[in-house]
Amino acid sequence: MSMLIEEYITLKLTEEDLHSGDLILVNQDNEFKQMGVNLLPVDSLYFEIYGGQPIYISQEINKPLLKLIDAINAKKKFVAVSGYRSEEEQKEIYNNSILENGIEFTQKYIARPRESEHQTGLAIDLGEVVENVDFICPSFPHDGICKNFKDLAEEYGFIMRYKKDKESITKISEEKWHFRYVGIPHAKLINKYNYCLEEYIDFLRKFEYNTNHLKIEEDNLRIEIFYIEMKDKIIEINLSKNKKYHVSGNNIDGFIITLFEDMGMNSYAL
Ligand SMILES: [Zn+2]
Repeated sequence: MSMLIEEYITLKLTEEDLHSGDLILVNQDNEFKQMGVNLLPVDSLYFEIYGGQPIYISQEINKPLLKLIDAINAKKKFVAVSGYRSEEEQKEIYNNSILENGIEFTQKYIARPRESEHQTGLAIDLGEVVENVDFICPSFPHDGICKNFKDLAEEYGFIMRYKKDKESITKISEEKWHFRYVGIPHAKLINKYNYCLEEYIDFLRKFEYNTNHLKIEEDNLRIEIFYIEMKDKIIEINLSKNKKYHVSGNNIDGFIITLFEDMGMNSYAL
């Protein structure tokens, strides 16, 4: 008789981890608290850069973003308008916009410092290349390469973050140009259920560590997603050594764990 012994690794998750990862929710109710962000400049071979100043994004979203651009054959066809912003920069943009555009417009389109996804490095504003690029509302029409980008974004882990029918939840007006990285397979699930990130984070609470997990199969991968509440200052969790895993805090009250198990021969870039 043979026995399959599953080996485990123990993950220790801390308060700091709660505020980092691809799925952190940053909005009016949940301030950005992460200490540092690893940044890379947006590749100028791929993008026109607004204002000529380097635009930075999180190291992690760089590769999927370039792959997406390659997939739709759109090198240099987009202008990168805004990526990572420090708290100081966000403050400046917010205050300048109040002076230039008034408070009503500003509240619709610009998050207050610490409430902006741009501070995470996981968001990018893109527009089509036109003569006069609007820094706050770049042109992102529903056709051509912009449509191609939007349609394929989920395959590379990106979502259009601020949709018209979710304005009452996100408290931000529709922004066709603002894309947020949430990773694979979360972008697809968010679109499939027509959730905004706020709704998705809430939905995942149903799939607690000790109960039923959310299970999907895709591209020869068996994927399992679950939520674990941060009940103590440090929480420990055992995960099978045989599966790849990805952990993100939700920036509120717990963690989302995604497990990947390869079922076939195809390799899959995570
Ligand atoms: Zn934006």
